[in-house]
Amino acid sequence: MTKTEELMTENAMAAQEIIARNAKEVDRERRFPRENITALGRCRVLGLLVPVEHGGAGGGLAEMSRALEQLAQACPSTAMVVLMHFCGTAVIAAKGSAKLKQALLPAIARGEHLTTLAFSEPGSGGHFYFPVSQARPNGHGFFLNANKSFVTSAGEADSYVVSTRAVNAKTPQESALFLVDKRAEGLEVLGRFEGLGLAGNASAPMRLHNVAVDAEHRLGEEGSGFETMLEVVLPHFQIGAASVSLGIAAAAFQMATTHVSARKYEHAAGAALAEIPRVQFLEAEMVLELRSARAYLAETIRRAVSGDPEAMLDVIGIKARAAEASLAVVSRAMTLGGGAAYASPGGLERIFRDAQAASVMAPTTDVLKDFLGKAALGLPLL
Ligand SMILES: Cc1cc2nc3c(=O)[nH]c(=O)nc-3n(C[C@H](O)[C@H](O)[C@H](O)COP(=O)(O)OP(=O)(O)OC[C@H]3O[C@@H](n4cnc5c(N)ncnc54)[C@H](O)[C@@H]3O)c2cc1C
Repeated sequence: MTKTEELMTENAMAAQEIIARNAKEVDRERRFPRENITALGRCRVLGLLVPVEHGGAGGGLAEMSRALEQLAQACPSTAMVVLMHFCGTAVIAAKGSAKLKQALLPAIARGEHLTTLAFSEPGSGGHFYFPVSQARPNGHGFFLNANKSFVTSAGEADSYVVSTRAVNAKTPQESALFLVDKRAEGLEVLGRFEGLGLAGNASAPMRLHNVAVDAEHRLGEEGSGFETMLEVVLPHFQIGAASVSLGIAAAAFQMATTHVSARKYEHAAGAALAEIPRVQFLEAEMVLELRSARAYLAETIRRAVSGDPEAMLDVIGIKARAAEASLAVVSRAMTLGGGAAYASPGGLERIFRDAQAASVMAPTTDVLKDFLGKAALGLPLL
């Protein structure tokens, strides 16, 4: 390990402590975890996916997965903000013009720029890869008009990777991605996020009204948005979301396991919950869920990184598997936590609420299974 890597690791550990300390408060006050993001910027975690030539760590899917799982163990709201930032960063690095990359990537690497994805629209819901909004030409660039339904870090990010149908698009697949600066005229956040879990996420609706963007701010060729979503966004989002789910599950498992050893019954001569066979059985089920999902995640990353032609099926499957494993573990952890879990705000009940987002964030578990079923039958996915 080089001196710089040692320093990054030390700073990252310090950031992790800050994040864990803030988690309850972020949830209770439903506030954006700004100080966590600042700490992660300082230790250069926000620049993890920025290529080395632009000052970043040059990390890939494996490094991203490890970072997100650890963050989610401490604070799932923060992990989700960072996941959407990583997805946006990956698109900028892969599809941004040389000038745009020069302007943004060094700032992201220094932790001075937070980005996110603004894809989902009320008109297509979870089928976010089919935007209904459309870009219009304005001479030297484009006008964007769009309603976005959930944007993580809305009003907090420095930029937004926005999807619309391409100019003159004939099919929903012909979409385009644009980088929109937070100061752009016509960009508006509509309300606050009142979700069940991930309360610190600031996942609010946004409206773009005649937002003017230069041609240089289009990310990739005209009409190539769908392709970018498949090639760049999908692997990062799916593997990242699965890692967040597993981090949440690991936190729930840890809390429940500590609880069953500590909880003792006076009426039974101080016997612990951990001594009851049914409790041991639930522990075993949690271990199996966690270990099998983690092994599938590792295999998915291995295949995706090596360019295995079968990787896409696993990239589709892993988010569904990890979301289900997470819900199964968290549900058992709640059972083991009993009244203490139910009635202790900010503890297991917070993790239970946070875990629910994994299955409704698009592509949802059901939609992913729809894709997998069609693939197994040799039918077209869309
Ligand atoms: C905490 C949070 C953060 C988010 N952050 C972002 C973000 O940063 N950027 C962004 O772009 N979006 C974001 N989203 C939006 C998210 O990705 C989805 O687009 C959104 O949750 C879809 O909601 P909906 O009610 O419109 O879904 P709908 O499309 O109405 O779906 C409702 C239900 O119908 C089911 N369904 C629909 N079609 C099918 C089908 N073919 N087969 C089987 N079942 C089907 C779905 O599984 C789902 O359960 C976020 C969402 C949440 C909850």
